[in-house]
Formats: sequence, structure tokens, C-alpha cells
Amino acid sequence: MSAAADLPFEPRLNYYRGRVALHAILSALGVGRGDRVLIQAFTCVAVPEAVFACGAAPVFVDIESDGFNMDPARVEERIDARTRAIVVQHTFGIAANLTPILEIAQRHGLPVIEDCCHSYYSQVDARTIGTLGTAAFYSFEWGKPMILGLGGVAIARSPELQARLAQDHAQRYVVPPAAMQLRLEAQYWAFQLLYRPALFWMIRRAFRALSRLRIAEGSFHALGGEPSREFGWRMAPLLMRRFPRKLAGLAAQAEHARQLVRQYQAQLVAPGVVQPRLSGHDVLVRYPLRVQMKEELLQQAQAASVELANWYATPVHPIPPEHLGSVGLDAAECPQALLRCAEIVSLPVNTRVSAASVERAAALLRATAKS
Ligand SMILES: *Cc1c(COP(=O)(O)O)cnc(C)c1O
Repeated sequence: MSAAADLPFEPRLNYYRGRVALHAILSALGVGRGDRVLIQAFTCVAVPEAVFACGAAPVFVDIESDGFNMDPARVEERIDARTRAIVVQHTFGIAANLTPILEIAQRHGLPVIEDCCHSYYSQVDARTIGTLGTAAFYSFEWGKPMILGLGGVAIARSPELQARLAQDHAQRYVVPPAAMQLRLEAQYWAFQLLYRPALFWMIRRAFRALSRLRIAEGSFHALGGEPSREFGWRMAPLLMRRFPRKLAGLAAQAEHARQLVRQYQAQLVAPGVVQPRLSGHDVLVRYPLRVQMKEELLQQAQAASVELANWYATPVHPIPPEHLGSVGLDAAECPQALLRCAEIVSLPVNTRVSAASVERAAALLRATAKS
């Protein structure tokens, strides 16, 4: 099993959030006004937000018909003379089919940026994700494997790009205002004290209400207009200080996640439920299931206080289908992403999930499948 020391990232190139790290990488690669960046449909708005913040535009690539990641067969048709980079997301921690995408990128002279926000340990051909592309970025917010509160890091494979990122980081990125850091710290402790799978729905409601009141820092901004000033911020030092301790716990946490995945695999067997295809080297952030009665199941889960998440409810979560044009996505071009949104739910694998929570989720799923 990998030790934490084997992880490709370290805290040096740190940013306010994962999307700020992606923006830093794109900027260091020279992506700017009029340029295009390929990203997958079935993502969250953080990714196109970083592209827009460069003055560039996202171009969406549909996902595989039996999975959650970019379909390599759809990549080349989306490349044109203005394309400057490809962002490849390892959704839920399931490693993307990188080899053919890297081959296409090389043929077109395009950098590949790995979105490792969902997993730090998954592997492709015995290599840890994040080390195969030109650069990679990570996030440490509430839903991610390592929760620091908010924050992200970037890494680059070539010493030249790494040096450019380091120079930009030193010159252009400042520490967030103290009031913001304190707010994040309070949010971190509220989450640590309260969170357990049975309180998932309650915490979600409270968090949404508080972010509407702008008391809590939400996951999503309105797009359009000037980029947020967060795109010039480092990770909050108040949150950074727990980085070494959290990093040291990651290997044990990954082992716990692997065990829970095996339990889910054995127990979530019900009509109309499709389990994900995993490689055996994937370390997941959540266990995704495709179900036929998604809305009903979500309602039942809420009533029974069983944690069940809805990533992603739309191809660019949480932008409603009728507004996807505002981020440049034509839904007709991403039929697989739409299908996946209609059938996806996911279960937790974090350290507060026990064998008993797995059994409760399995019982709920079997009961709903029968009704
Ligand atoms: C969380 C996440 C990000 C970045 O999120 P931040 O909130 O900016 O840290 C990027 N991509 C994916 C797929 C994510 O889930």
C-alpha cells in the first residue's frame, strides 16, 4: 500500500481553492483571451469558472457511455485552432482513460491538466494520477478526500512550468483577508463536530441556508462579470497548518475507503442498480451508483437519514439544464452526461462511515428497488 510520502503533491504551490490552482496552471501555460480549453461535461462549475477567469472559453467533451469520465473517442473532434489545453477529470476517483487522450494531446501539441480533486491515490498503468499529464491540481474542500476547509494545490511535471508557477505564486498571490480565514476556520470546526452520515441531510440544509445568507462560504459563484478576487489568493494559512497531519492520515483513510467499496460492491445488489466499473487501483471519494428511480431514492434516503449525494445533478453542477448555454454547453452535444445526471447517486466512503451505515444504505436501496 502507498504511504502518504508517495503522493505527488506538496503544499508549496497552494491556492485559495482548487479552481484557483487550475486558473494558476492555465495562466502559467499562457491560456488567455480568445483561447479554448477542453473540459468534460459532467463536472462542477468550478472547472469552467477557472477557464472563464483566464478570459478563455470551455469546450465540453461528452463522457463515456459506461462511465463518468471524458470519452477519448470524442476528444479530437472538439479540438480546433484555438484549443490551448485539455483538462482531464478523474471523476469520483475513477482514473480516466488517460493513455489515448495523452496521445491525441501530444499529436496536437496540447498540455493535459489532470483534475485530481476527487482522488489522490488512484493509478493508471501503475502510475499515480496527477503524474501523467503536464500538470495537476487538487482541492481540500468539504466533499474531498482531505478536508482542510477550503484550499487547493498545483503541481507541474516539467521543472520549467513548476518554476513559472512558483514565480507567479510568489509575485501575484496574496494571503486571504483575516476575516475570511476566521470564517473558514469556524466552518471547518462546525463541520468536524457535526458531520456523520446520518446528519448529512440536516447539515446540507443548514449549509445551503447559511451560504444564501452569505454567512458560510458556498461551493458555487454566479458566473459572468469580473472574475472573483479569490483568483489572486493563496490558501488560508490558518487552514494550511493542518496540512502535514492530514497528509499523514491519508494512507489509512484510503485503506478505509477501499474496504467500504468492497462492502458496497457485495451489498448493493438490487434490480435496476448498476455498480461502477473499477480498475482495482482506484481510490474513490464516493461510491457512485446508477439507479433507475433516482428522485424517489433521494427522497427515501432523506426520510431515512441515509447519506446519498446527487453529484452531478446537471452536466455543469449546479447550473440548471435551461441555463447551461450561459457556460457554453449545448446539452444536445453531451447526451451521455445528461443520461448520467438522470441516474447518478453516490454513497460516502469517509472515515466516519461504518459497516452499519453501509448496511442501512443497502437496505434502503433494496426496499426502494422493490417498491
Ligand atoms: C471540488 C472540485 C474542484 C475544485 O473545487 P474548489 O471548490 O475550487 O476547491 C474542481 N473539480 C472538481 C471535479 C471538483 O469536484
